[in-house]
Amino acid sequence: SKKLADHIWFNGEIIPWEKATVHVLTHAIHYGSSVFEGVRAYDTPDKGPCVFRMQEHTRRLFDSAKVYRMTIPFTEEQINQATLDILRKNNLKSAYIRPIAFYGDIGMGLQVPFGTETDLAIAAFPWGAYLGDEALKNGVDAGVSSWNRLAANTMPTGAKAGGNYMSSQLISMEARRHGYGEGIALDVNGYVSEGAGENLFVIRNGVVATTPKTAAILPGITRDTVMTLLREMGYEVREENIPRESLYLADEVLMCGTAAEVTPVRSVDGIPVGNGGRGPITEKVQSAFFGLFNGQTEDKWGWLTPVE
Ligand code: PMP
Repeated sequence: SKKLADHIWFNGEIIPWEKATVHVLTHAIHYGSSVFEGVRAYDTPDKGPCVFRMQEHTRRLFDSAKVYRMTIPFTEEQINQATLDILRKNNLKSAYIRPIAFYGDIGMGLQVPFGTETDLAIAAFPWGAYLGDEALKNGVDAGVSSWNRLAANTMPTGAKAGGNYMSSQLISMEARRHGYGEGIALDVNGYVSEGAGENLFVIRNGVVATTPKTAAILPGITRDTVMTLLREMGYEVREENIPRESLYLADEVLMCGTAAEVTPVRSVDGIPVGNGGRGPITEKVQSAFFGLFNGQTEDKWGWLTPVE
């Protein structure tokens, strides 16, 4: 893997990037048996480098593992500490952090004996705007995918598991092939679900709606952040089923996720959203979001954990 930082935390040790390797018979490669997180750290003016909502991400990692009855041989506290350690070791001020628990070299065969422990790695490296700086400012062109999100009784989308991302890859691959910056999937009932790796918000007449947990989404931590910031600003935020045409009829649509941060959607299926650029509420919530990291938004919620 292309070297993005000097060290990786792997099963309790900090080792050189090049040494953090696995066997070709790693269970997770064959069967998708991993659960992971995407976390970001930002350099703040007052507290220096801080991890954003670290405890919630680690909690979700354990929630995902619980769904699949995986045993992670570390505590949440140890993983939080390891996250701070690897940031410090790599001398990172801002970073994308990727903790991953996976079934490793445990022998061939689908069946995993109960109690089998996962391996656990935490990588941290620099990573810019996932959908591009241009998209943060002017918006991304999105297309609705012909692929649906996973049905609720097939694979649980509320767990952030490696295997789920075969679905996300189909959705974003098709979108890019059609010339879009990102794909949006409908759920099996035909309602809007989410982007390949982002949650969605739709705004009309000053009322904000986002898709509910029942629409086969990963209930994102950024989604919760955006809901909290908008409510703080006095906007009504609803969780409700969103039909496809609401994307076309919205004044504003935005996508959000740890990697994508808060990104406006300027068109869906080639139809301009609102005025075809970044809308005013999107701009407000973007500046409130980035304000958490540049000192303009007070962190009332204790979302920032200083690295030092
Ligand atoms: N949906 C999917 C499918 C994702 O992969 C992500 C990114 N983790 C999100 C939503 C957004 O979640 P979060 O804000 O917690 O990063």
